[in-house]
Amino acid sequence: MTSRDLATLPKAHLHIHLEGGMRPETLVELAAAAGIPVPEVRGYGSFSVFAAMYVAACEVLRSPEDLRRLVFEVVEDSAVAGAVWVEPSIYAPHHAQRIGPPDEVMEILLEAGREAGEHFGIGVGWMVAADRTADPADAVAQAELAIRFRDQGVVSFGLANDEAIGPPEWFGEAFTAARDAGLLSTPHAGELAGPESVIGALDVLGADRIQHGVRAVEQPGLVDRIADSGVCLDVCPTSNVLLSVVPSIGAHPLPQLIAAGVRCSLNADDPLLFGPGLLEEYEVARSDLALDDDALAFVARSSVDASGASDTLKADTNKAIDAWLAS
Ligand SMILES: [Zn+2]
Repeated sequence: MTSRDLATLPKAHLHIHLEGGMRPETLVELAAAAGIPVPEVRGYGSFSVFAAMYVAACEVLRSPEDLRRLVFEVVEDSAVAGAVWVEPSIYAPHHAQRIGPPDEVMEILLEAGREAGEHFGIGVGWMVAADRTADPADAVAQAELAIRFRDQGVVSFGLANDEAIGPPEWFGEAFTAARDAGLLSTPHAGELAGPESVIGALDVLGADRIQHGVRAVEQPGLVDRIADSGVCLDVCPTSNVLLSVVPSIGAHPLPQLIAAGVRCSLNADDPLLFGPGLLEEYEVARSDLALDDDALAFVARSSVDASGASDTLKADTNKAIDAWLAS
């Protein structure tokens, strides 16, 4: 009995780095327009090579119009996959040299997000994410940026890049400011670093959601703590396999986390670099991780409930998930 259409299961896309959501054909077209070789986005053997490819992909974005196109396509791809809410993350300084200072970049993104959300009939919120390999003072600046745009569509504050370089404990000041301003705390942890980074994200950063977090399973008791706290893990199975966080898709701990009562969402992370989009991750969870429709509906419900969406959107979506299960 796993015949329900996963595209019609209402869901939220909570772990998607904006530039990593670029369509491959858009990368090719924008590189040609910029007069630069198409950046390599496949074949990385380590996180640092992956991260360098990510930054190279950002370099095809040369104008506000390029950014607007990217936002429209990321929102459309999420909507087609059945998302009622998408929460892309952005590190605005990536675009300082070619497009403009962070405030200008945010204004472009927020306006494009509003227009795309209306056009495709879904909600769009933004996660401003600090770079954990930069000075913690830069993270404070990113938190201040997020807070300035809080009433215009920024809903969460994240922390991305190599966990092995920047532990959560360095970023308490930035996250305290963001949380005091009412933003959700949504750092990456438990991906490249082990359970100690998950504990840091909970204790020091007050995480509401953790992007990945899957290595919590390595420490006894931590999974129960996450389940009891209601913190949602924004899980990306394909990304975890391709960056060697787990040895194979069949070994992914998502079923174990769900069985323990941990709220989990499913996400694409960086489809430009990893391949599968949001819907494909749900399909992989069904086919390779043997999640049944009740478990997939639990994931979808968790994603919406833990998102930055309005209470109205959450209530409407929960009813629509009930209807999907009853169909
Ligand atoms: Zn990520």
